[in-house]
Amino acid sequence: MHNFSTFSIQQIHKGLSAKRFSCVELVEAYLQRVHELDSKLNAFITVTAEDAHEKARAVDAKIARGEQIGLLEGVPMSLKDLFCTKGVQTTAGSKILEGFVPPYDATSVARLKSAGAVLLGKNTEDEFGHGASSENTGFSVPRNPWDTSRVAGGSSGGSAVAVTTGMAVFALGTDTGGSVRQPAALCGCVGLKPTYGRISRYGVIAMASSLDTVGILARSSQDIAVVLSTIAGKDPLDSTLPDVAVPDYLAVFKKSVRGMKVGIPEEYFGEGLEDGVRKRVEEAVRTLESLGMIVKQVSLPHTKYGVAAYYIICPSEVSANMARYDGIKYGPTANDARDLSEVYFRSRSRGFHPEVQRRIMIGTYALSTGYYDAYYLKAQKIRTLVKQDFEEAFGEVDVLAAPVSPTVAFQLGEKSQDPLAMYMSDVFTIPASLAGMPAVSVPCGMSDGLPVGLQIIGPQFGEERILTVANAFENFWKTPTPS
Ligand code: GLN
Repeated sequence: MHNFSTFSIQQIHKGLSAKRFSCVELVEAYLQRVHELDSKLNAFITVTAEDAHEKARAVDAKIARGEQIGLLEGVPMSLKDLFCTKGVQTTAGSKILEGFVPPYDATSVARLKSAGAVLLGKNTEDEFGHGASSENTGFSVPRNPWDTSRVAGGSSGGSAVAVTTGMAVFALGTDTGGSVRQPAALCGCVGLKPTYGRISRYGVIAMASSLDTVGILARSSQDIAVVLSTIAGKDPLDSTLPDVAVPDYLAVFKKSVRGMKVGIPEEYFGEGLEDGVRKRVEEAVRTLESLGMIVKQVSLPHTKYGVAAYYIICPSEVSANMARYDGIKYGPTANDARDLSEVYFRSRSRGFHPEVQRRIMIGTYALSTGYYDAYYLKAQKIRTLVKQDFEEAFGEVDVLAAPVSPTVAFQLGEKSQDPLAMYMSDVFTIPASLAGMPAVSVPCGMSDGLPVGLQIIGPQFGEERILTVANAFENFWKTPTPS
């Protein structure tokens, strides 16, 4: 019996091609794991077992005919429930979309399917991506696989759990202010937030349009490189993508890190950073140094304004994007209303989580006449300063290294009644989001039995660089699998 739950994409590809196991066997083993673990861990809202089986049989038939298969062919994946999937319910984690079945696939999903990846199901998450613990949901709350009384992080919490525990080989999530990096760090897998505009967002349910990115979660940066090469790049259906060539990331990123310069931003090591996290990250930096990287102290002076600016810009854009959920076009309609405005009012009050309602109110307020200049415009100016900080730093160094989350996974319920405490979970991930820079979270050790993530940030379209550093680091430190 193979232990498929730790297999890499390349191992699967070799095994399938050499007929050491069949795709049906592989997919069944993954589904079996979902069956065994998910009643405790809640990583999935929907499991698409039948479709997965059918797809697996088709891959086996292709191999039996002696045809070549691609790298992703037959590889089991899962998707945050924010990705539109043709014929499969897509809820964005919210009751307001319960029962919504999209008639089309998101571009990234379509690209993965045509590369042969097998969809196992859709993952739990914070509603529309609003949160950092996956507790702001209309469905079940995913649990941290290392300690089920703790959060998995968010908002792509279910995806991080699925990948870490071997219920999927890789998953797509979304990262608007940290939602791929932070759950990856808290669960112990690798999570990439690419450059804003690297991957098409067509068919990805919008949260904050000037910040949203499609991210990838996997057990190694090599697997991430394979997926990134498949889904990145221009899409006629998404006009926010610049025409930047897509390299074969797997081929280009494995250079040596010797002589590369890594900047350590002092603002990321101040107050609020848990001691255990600081220690692991500092050790990681020493490891990078021992691998031949040149370590330099740098400063990103506007970091401290990042969270405040984000929590104006994000809710403002949220308030616009949530306007389409009127209880009529998608999802359940309040059928006890007396008139149209009551239909809107009741459907939205019942369908949206309180956190979504809070953001709609904050955003609507910040955008209203008289306040626009005071809040939204000011926040946008701060955003420019944050971006300039990064650009200056990348004039001196190749990448930056920092913590992902100020703490390890916290207790369920610990921050859910305190939005400000929850917002601070993303203090170290938000700046790269505001600046549109790519960043990857890689596991760098344990503190109190819980995983810690190292964040490597690069300049725009510098995915190759940050994956190179992540890969060099991974060769040095391997995360254990939760038992
Ligand atoms: N935690 C942040 C928020 O609540 C980021 C979420 C995200 O990246 N989707 O907005």
